[in-house]
Amino acid sequence: MQQFTIAVIPGDGIGNEVVPEGLRVLERIGSIFGFTFRFQHFDWSCELYKNSGRMMPEDGIARLRDHDAIFFGAVGFPGVPDHISLWGLLIPIRRELDQYVNLRPVRLFPGVVAPVRAEAGEIDFWVVRENSEGEYSQIGGRLFAGTADEVVVQESVFTRRGTDRILRYAFEFAGRLERKHVTSATKSNGLFYSMPFWDERFAAMAAEYPDVQADQYHIDILAARFVMSPQRFSVVVGSNLFGDILSDLGPGVTGTIGIAPSGNINPERVYPSMFEPVHGSAPDIAGKGIANPIGQIWSAAMMLEHLGQAEAAAAIMSAIERVVAGDRNLLTPDMGGKGTTRSLADAIVNAL
Ligand code: NAD
Ligand code: MN
Repeated sequence: MQQFTIAVIPGDGIGNEVVPEGLRVLERIGSIFGFTFRFQHFDWSCELYKNSGRMMPEDGIARLRDHDAIFFGAVGFPGVPDHISLWGLLIPIRRELDQYVNLRPVRLFPGVVAPVRAEAGEIDFWVVRENSEGEYSQIGGRLFAGTADEVVVQESVFTRRGTDRILRYAFEFAGRLERKHVTSATKSNGLFYSMPFWDERFAAMAAEYPDVQADQYHIDILAARFVMSPQRFSVVVGSNLFGDILSDLGPGVTGTIGIAPSGNINPERVYPSMFEPVHGSAPDIAGKGIANPIGQIWSAAMMLEHLGQAEAAAAIMSAIERVVAGDRNLLTPDMGGKGTTRSLADAIVNAL
């Protein structure tokens, strides 16, 4: 029987509540489709930081390398500054394992009340976010700190290799979809160097993929279009910062960020890819048992797809859809229900 070795990092807050539900769904789907998992658990978190001064051990990345994939919850908690938790765990994993694609589906499910006027099925697109460079850099500086003359500089880094590979991924991905259409997020009217370069590479890439329709919008109007006409998108590609914002806005437009998943992907498969919900550790509801587990469970489906188990992934998605369209009371409060993390996950496991 095929076995997958998965590194499991629940992290902080509701990560500890939703990850076990994701694992339960994986065990169940494996028993149906005939494969198993070996889960290796890592307690890397803000908790560990408070006890040891590190978010993960020094050889942490090396310990992840020989897994088939990484299943991640959320990181960050009050008491540890966000830049320490993020740069101490999540960002090093993404960068050192060269997970340069952050892939996030945006889909409106039947039964979900969305804040925009749209029918279920009409909103169905992907945000492809650059995940390794761009605006998220540690290059810059702070001079004259604390004085009236204080100056802060934050640099962005756009390499040709890094820009081309994310754009190529977006065009390749769109080429396999029914609607072959890539929209680029830009801001070449305000950013003097980075975005004109991005536009130039986008145009060059579009010329290589004549079957794929290409267009681009400045990030400000693109954000407005996400709300006014989310039906029109198929694949939206953006830099690290723009992609980050759009991939929270997308799920926001479809009702709740509690259900949104993501993949941090190393397309060359030299390193394991990592799957995690879009949401964070939600300190405001942590410990209450009411976190929506669907983002984590959908992330499990994305992981299975990546591992070559497309049928099993589709079965999970169908179970999620049926449960979401069914008894409203089973859903967690963020979706207007009275359910708990456990009862919603139970319903999905039973629907499999
Ligand atoms: P958040 O996603 O944790 O929470 C935002 C809001 O959405 C909160 O009101 C929360 O209760 C709600 N929410 C989030 N997930 C939910 C779920 N599954 N079910 C129901 N409601 C849910 O974002 P935040 O409050 O900006 O950040 C909290 C912490 O998480 C910070 O430390 C932040 O750095 C971290 N964070 C981590 C990641 C990650 O691990 N990838 C992503 C975002 C934020
Ligand atoms: Mn984000």
